[in-house]
Amino acid sequence: MNLIQHFVNGKVFKGSSKRTSKIFNPATGEQTSEVNLASKDDVDVAVQKAKEAFIDWSNKPPVQRARVIFKFKELIEKNSDEITKIIVSEHGKVYEDAKGSLIRGLEVVEFACGIPNLLKGEFTENVGTDVDSWSVRQPLGICAGITPFNFPAMVPMWMFPISIACGNTFILKPSEKDPSCSVRLAQLFKEAGLPDGVFNVVNGDKEAVDALLTNKDVAAISFVGSTPIAKYIYENAAKNEKRVQALGGAKNHCVVMPDCDLDQAVNGLMGAAYGSAGERCMAQSVAVAVGKVGDQLVNKLSKKVELLRVGPGSDKSSEMGPLVTKEHLEKVKGYVDIGIKEGAKLVVDGRNIKLQGFEKGFFIGGCLFDYVKKNMKIYKEEIFGPVLSVVRVKDFKSAVDLVNDHEFGNGTSIYTRDGDIGRTFANKIKIGMVGINIPIPVPVAFHSFGGWKRSFFGDQHMHGPEGVRFYTKLKTITSRWPSGIRSDPEFVMPTMK
Ligand code: NAD
Repeated sequence: MNLIQHFVNGKVFKGSSKRTSKIFNPATGEQTSEVNLASKDDVDVAVQKAKEAFIDWSNKPPVQRARVIFKFKELIEKNSDEITKIIVSEHGKVYEDAKGSLIRGLEVVEFACGIPNLLKGEFTENVGTDVDSWSVRQPLGICAGITPFNFPAMVPMWMFPISIACGNTFILKPSEKDPSCSVRLAQLFKEAGLPDGVFNVVNGDKEAVDALLTNKDVAAISFVGSTPIAKYIYENAAKNEKRVQALGGAKNHCVVMPDCDLDQAVNGLMGAAYGSAGERCMAQSVAVAVGKVGDQLVNKLSKKVELLRVGPGSDKSSEMGPLVTKEHLEKVKGYVDIGIKEGAKLVVDGRNIKLQGFEKGFFIGGCLFDYVKKNMKIYKEEIFGPVLSVVRVKDFKSAVDLVNDHEFGNGTSIYTRDGDIGRTFANKIKIGMVGINIPIPVPVAFHSFGGWKRSFFGDQHMHGPEGVRFYTKLKTITSRWPSGIRSDPEFVMPTMK
């Protein structure tokens, strides 16, 4: 059985732990490999190596760091087919979608190539007579990233390229369900000329995460995953005096106004609800049908959901692949059962799909519920599968109240042709990322990504300008040369003179 190991200090690292976890090909249901699960001692070795590497890396001029990152970008482009196939084989999503997610990660690498410009400080001449003041941003030290299964390339790439560009060293703890992509990216970064110890991948579960949270030498933690774990990370990172950004789960609403281009809204919803089998934190899992649009919306959606081409991600004609594991498949099916019991109307039932040659794969077809109500579990909780719930409301205000009352606040969209409605929605909605006639409003690399409410714990969002701020600390220097005005001792607060 193929064993996936850690990558520490520029090479494969076996570690001392004997614990492993199984990796499956979700399309066939077969186990393909296993991954080492790091012990605390293994994590401590990685931290020590990252600490040693920090001394030289943080001193390198940003332009030299940028050159290594630029080479890394070229290597990702050159190897994109191989990386995409790794994503498909361990996550299950369809090839083009996997490739798109890699490219969204690559865009953050491109952004990080501009680090000399991004790290330019601020300077004021003569803040007082003959006194100058300037501010610079310096790296934090060792940063760690803990990432979810659903974007094995993109989410880690939201973090480590910017952190490393800023002069930090980095330890990535990817999801134990699909870790191979992270290890491959680390190999490519080394090939690009990154010094050993600057980027390390430690595989593992709670034990490795806790070791990162409690290690005094780790300065900052970036986390993406479910809300309960995000909260745990936020609390424990803060308790251990670390900087932290922790992105959690979601329940994203797409508001469909009666005046919208309905075909555009339906197509948008199809991709946003069923793309990547709904395993996206920005998936639109609730369609809010406003006024009289409900019947027409459900009618158009149901026809398309029934025709969804479900199949292995490696088959280029598939529109939707399997779920990541058997346990996750059972969980999603369980939610569909609950929805029926709660009294929602199951318009399309994808639970009994059978694919010839892939009978053991973790497949479920698209599911569509109508008449979902606010108090139902299938409305309140994140299902993270291809299950779209339609909630009917009487008017725009009720739609806004519904979205704002939900505990999650990651993304939302509205379909309308009324500019006034679109603007009011963007202004009043309590959500971090908003789309107007855009189904999945994921910010591009040079803006920042993050939700509100219980979808995000922390202050600075990920990548873009907030990413640079998160991975650096501010230092402000005030200086006067001895040739300037000489003064007697002053015992009062200095003011601008
Ligand atoms: P998860 O929370 O189970 O795992 C995320 C990471 O935390 C993994 O690396 C895992 O090993 C680790 N982990 C799991 N249990 C832990 C524990 N008890 N203690 C310490 N560490 C633990 O999430 P997942 O199932 O891998 O991913 C799906 C979730 O991630 C969904 O809720 C989805 O919405 C969310 N997500 C959010 C965003 C966002 O940007 N907000 C993006 C992608 C995914």
